[in-house]
Amino acid sequence: MTQTANSRTWHERALRVIPGGVSSPVRAFASVGGTPRYMVSGSGSRVTDVDGRSYVDFIGSWGPMIAGHAHPDVIEAVHAVMGKSFSFGAPGPHEVELAEEIARRVPACERVRFVSSGTEAVMTAVRLARAATGRSLIVKFSGCYHGHADSMLVSAGSGVATLGLRNSPGVTDGSVADTVVIPFNDFAAVTHVFHEFGPSIAAVITEPAPANMGVVPPDSGFVKHVYELTRQHHALLIFDEVMTGFRISAAGWYGKFAREEEIEPDLFTFGKVIGGGLPLAAVGGRADVMELLAPLGSVYQAGTLSGNPVATTAGLATLALCTDELYAHLDRRADEVGGLVTHALSTAGVPHRHQAAGNLFSFFFTDKPVRNFSDAQAQDTRAFAAFFHALLENGISIPPSAFEAWFVSAALTDDDMSELERVLPLAARAAARVEA
Ligand SMILES: *Cc1c(COP(=O)(O)O)cnc(C)c1O
Repeated sequence: MTQTANSRTWHERALRVIPGGVSSPVRAFASVGGTPRYMVSGSGSRVTDVDGRSYVDFIGSWGPMIAGHAHPDVIEAVHAVMGKSFSFGAPGPHEVELAEEIARRVPACERVRFVSSGTEAVMTAVRLARAATGRSLIVKFSGCYHGHADSMLVSAGSGVATLGLRNSPGVTDGSVADTVVIPFNDFAAVTHVFHEFGPSIAAVITEPAPANMGVVPPDSGFVKHVYELTRQHHALLIFDEVMTGFRISAAGWYGKFAREEEIEPDLFTFGKVIGGGLPLAAVGGRADVMELLAPLGSVYQAGTLSGNPVATTAGLATLALCTDELYAHLDRRADEVGGLVTHALSTAGVPHRHQAAGNLFSFFFTDKPVRNFSDAQAQDTRAFAAFFHALLENGISIPPSAFEAWFVSAALTDDDMSELERVLPLAARAAARVEA
């Protein structure tokens, strides 16, 4: 019996009925090798697998578990509504309260429509931008991930990057033809694209601080530059804050950086944190654009489970915990973790870059600055894999890909930090042993 025998058994069963054994590709460990751990419970900062091993969790369901797993306030709120049915397919008070809370935090979100995944939110935002402008082209940045809608699967980050896929088969040339992909942080490329295609551009979609190719903060003035070009050319700006929204501040990247730079995106997409771990996402923005949606307008969008009481309650209860104090605490924890990892990798002589956007951060296994996707792809993913496995073997769970951000939760304890500090030197040495 190895210490992962039960995970292996479950994975063998999974492989017979689920492609790759997983419901979402990054979970499969494809780029780091080995068997994914099958998780059965979580509490606060920790998760436990089917073999009874416990891990300090830096994945947090890829963001939603910002307050920690099984937070008593969230459980209590969800229990209270669950006993009164899971879904009605009719409007309910909780979705109204959550929409009000989102609009209160992000004033540029004058209207909010709920969906069940970030993918759907982006699909709807793109459709709205095209309807509002009567144009078809969407400009995106390589390495940004906007979910798996056809037109967004061109040079995408996250799992697409992890698996080394450029584009996805099954996406028609037609969908791709309406998407222009340029490098992030490339001022001249954005200017050029508007110069060439201005009258056809419906929108620019961007993660304001990309976190799906590892974390790549925008160069000073870059997002403003994009914003101003969209104003000059009457195109929309879509902020995909599915990752950063309600994660890096009470009002996401917008609240932390955009407002003071006077950047007002037309549309936003949210997900992850707003569902507190249940399937929930949203598209929001300018009233005149949002009101093009059916039933007011003719842009169609719908969802059987959209805005259901359980998910919106989990979201509301989670946001209630997401106070300014919580974000300040997360910032400190992120700095602390960043400092510990930097120290360990430096001591072991492993080339690395620590990059952050608020409390989201990642480590690139390269010594050159990473400003875009091709910089990110130049890192040593084998060194990352060795680092990852040494951490996992010793009870620290980080995302199984060099192209993903780490997620801190408010539940991390000083003991968790000590444990991380104790394990890091060994993981850094494992990375150092990988031959360049
Ligand atoms: C996770 C993510 C998505 C996709 O959301 P899903 O709920 O996984 O469909 C879209 N955009 C960004 C920026 C994301 O991080």
